[in-house]
Amino acid sequence: AKEHGKSRFKVFNQRMHEEALRTLELETDLRKASDSRELFVYYQPIVDLENETIAGFEALLRWKHSRLGFIGPDEFIPLAEDTGLIFSIGRDVLANACADAIRWGQLIASRYGRDARAPHVSVNISGKQLMQPLLIGEVESILEESGLEPGRLKLEITENVLMEHITLAEGMLARLRRIGIGLSMDDFGTGYSSLSYLRQFPIDTIKIDKDFISAAITDKESEAIVSTVVTLGRSLGLDVIAEGVETPEHLALLRMHGCRYAQGYLFSKPVPPAEAEAMLLEGFAS
Ligand code: C2E
Ligand code: CA
Ligand code: CA
Ligand code: CA
Repeated sequence: AKEHGKSRFKVFNQRMHEEALRTLELETDLRKASDSRELFVYYQPIVDLENETIAGFEALLRWKHSRLGFIGPDEFIPLAEDTGLIFSIGRDVLANACADAIRWGQLIASRYGRDARAPHVSVNISGKQLMQPLLIGEVESILEESGLEPGRLKLEITENVLMEHITLAEGMLARLRRIGIGLSMDDFGTGYSSLSYLRQFPIDTIKIDKDFISAAITDKESEAIVSTVVTLGRSLGLDVIAEGVETPEHLALLRMHGCRYAQGYLFSKPVPPAEAEAMLLEGFAS
């Protein structure tokens, strides 16, 4: 038994060692990644269910490591936060997203006329970024350089980040709001906020987390939560987006509860910018 325990410890120890090495390697490589164009943005459409058009796109960061292939943002964003790289990476994502949104506006105008509604772009902002007061000036200067109307940019901040730093977050959100951009509470329902915080934070959109959407099919309580959030959102004048819409059943349930916006694999997975443009030009019929 002693031998056994010892070897198990050795295996465990080796795995920890390997993980630490991978983290170290990824951190080093991440430093070089933005210069070597290994980091880029994909877009996933957010669909307006009322008229089956694309209301906007969410920018989702991708890292294609030269040797390891695609590495998910859930793995490398925390590393970017730990190393402080998130600030320069985040700025690049924002600049790219605003420049692409300008192109979408031009494409839409040339295809459907000047009065056609151009899609917005949603950009994820991590906790570190939100707590950095320089973010405000950066957003302002990126908007100015790109020429994008502030109303066409939305920042997505997870419920947990907001709840961990309520007072600071409230102040930052208020300042961002004054610029005229939109603010979404991301992953709603996964954190520990109460519905009353929806009124406290100056947000205009709630994104219902994908776990609720999939659970709502079989679980009455999850369905009740989805329904409640949709109703509450409407009475507070907030847009509600359902995330992780994967099947026609998910969509039917959301329509039944009057949810206006949806995002998920049923419509499209996140795609490269050129494909997002093609989707816009085709007009959207899913
Ligand atoms: P998120 O903001 O909640 O983004 C939604 C995630 O769900 C994305 O994963 C997206 O690809 C995935 N998804 C979309 N539709 C479906 C669906 O129908 N089913 C399922 N199962 N998943 C779906 P992704 O791209 O791997 O991003 C993971 C997280 O990484 C994001 O979660 C976001 O928190 C973070 N992230 C991504 N890009 C950025 C960024 O530029 N900056 C920051 N700070 N965080 C980012
Ligand atoms: Ca998001
Ligand atoms: Ca989310
Ligand atoms: Ca998430």
